[in-house]
Amino acid sequence: MEQVSSGECYSRFSVDNAMTDRTSDPRSKQIIHEILPVGMLQCNCSIIGDPETREALVVDPGDEAGRILELLAKHALTVKAIVSTHAHIDHVGGLRKMQLATGAPVLMHGDDIDLYRHLDMQSAWIGVRPPDPANVDKLLREGDTLRWGAFEANVLHTPGHTPGSISLYLAPQRESEPREDAGKLLAGDTLFAGSIGRTDLWGGSLEQILRSIHQKLLILPDETVVYPGHGASTTIGEERANNPFLELPRLSSP
Ligand SMILES: [Zn+2]
Ligand SMILES: [Zn+2]
Repeated sequence: MEQVSSGECYSRFSVDNAMTDRTSDPRSKQIIHEILPVGMLQCNCSIIGDPETREALVVDPGDEAGRILELLAKHALTVKAIVSTHAHIDHVGGLRKMQLATGAPVLMHGDDIDLYRHLDMQSAWIGVRPPDPANVDKLLREGDTLRWGAFEANVLHTPGHTPGSISLYLAPQRESEPREDAGKLLAGDTLFAGSIGRTDLWGGSLEQILRSIHQKLLILPDETVVYPGHGASTTIGEERANNPFLELPRLSSP
């Protein structure tokens, strides 16, 4: 199945395998958004930077902290916070190195702390050496807002892939003309282009992930660009219309 039908959903590959996504706003105040697939499982690490204040949020530095730091340096960005959408090893493996290199706080949802404490077990599953754990500086909750530069992201608790999975929603920029700019959703391993996150690992729940997607993600505007934890970008409208995994069972009321 062709997962993304509208071409503008794809970001371009530039040097060093990073995808650079910029809003269509021709003015110079474009948000900096670098998407760097890292590690054996090619987790999409996002760097989202303010072009004026040069402050950035780093999401899911799963591995290859050196490459992430190089990209930050290329844009002269200062990291304000490092966030993992959930505590699977492919999304947290680089947290400690990023924390040491930048001094920025590490944030994740409290319901994934148990998972994070078992990095050794997770490492054994995929056959890698366990990384040193970072100090988690703040536990995120539904409704929290992350602010850096002129930007903010709302924390949506979207359990199901793991108990503490979150998605981050960046509403369209206020100063942009309406319709010129779409919001962004960093969906972790909850929603993918044409698929959803697996629920057969520890703490997973198919009912929960479907409820999370229907109640927290599909209510966002159609044009919202979705950046999954792996693979290609998509939009909320595309997934609402064509994702075959979103129709399966009838959901019971929460
Ligand atoms: Zn995962
Ligand atoms: Zn993953």
